[in-house]
Amino acid sequence: MTRVAPSLADLTSTQVRDVLRGRTLVWPIGATEQHGPHLPLSVDSVLAEEFAAEIAAELDGFTVPVQSIGARSLPQSGGGLSFPGTVYVGGETLIRFLAETLRSLAGLPFARLIVVNGHYENEPFIFEALDQIRQQGDFGHREVIAFSWWSMVQDSWLAAEVGDFPGWHAEHAGLTETSLMLHLRPDLVTDTRLDHDRPPRSGVYLHPIDLAQTTNQGILSSTSGSSADLGEKLFRHVIAESVAMVREGEGLLFARTRPDRRWRAKVSEGRQS
Ligand SMILES: [Zn+2]
Repeated sequence: MTRVAPSLADLTSTQVRDVLRGRTLVWPIGATEQHGPHLPLSVDSVLAEEFAAEIAAELDGFTVPVQSIGARSLPQSGGGLSFPGTVYVGGETLIRFLAETLRSLAGLPFARLIVVNGHYENEPFIFEALDQIRQQGDFGHREVIAFSWWSMVQDSWLAAEVGDFPGWHAEHAGLTETSLMLHLRPDLVTDTRLDHDRPPRSGVYLHPIDLAQTTNQGILSSTSGSSADLGEKLFRHVIAESVAMVREGEGLLFARTRPDRRWRAKVSEGRQS
């Protein structure tokens, strides 16, 4: 099971500045979005929160309370708004909300901020909000690293553990999310396992949309083969990759100020040969 990292919100006002000074803050951002007939609306928030708690525990950091309302669901990546239960805000509102939250967070003396995203459609808005705040100078020289959890998954891991993969846009409510939920929150997963053998293309916007073509009851790809065991392997892989990225200085700001270890390794390999 995942570990519990302390939350920023559990500190008192008299503690918070001293306790956070020089530490890592990890903010999970998810969504409330339909995930077919077998998974709860909370999947993207639950996964972001679990990854964030484990990353914070690894880095001796603190979590920020999960943001569980995200960007609009789109037909080619989340099934769209035809399925009940999705609660969202528009992109402009989300950018503004995130930017104002980041600006007020930036007033605390943390050394590093990590944002862990769990909802496909959030990503460009999170990056835009972060960059607005960076441009205004609120982060100073502090390190900021933001990523969607699936960006940590290596192609070699997918090839070894999953095989034929439809692309992350189509993994909505599919094999990986179902497996992660079976590992982390099996109490929230029903027994239904549907497949959709024609996953939509990525990077295409379509109107009007034919729901029977793009999804099977809100599922864009395949849930067959999902298991708690696969979910645990994937969870450990994502944690190992993300913690290594932070520790090895491969985040946005460290890359400018510290030599890249992989690059150095390649140079020394070259010298040996
Ligand atoms: Zn999802």
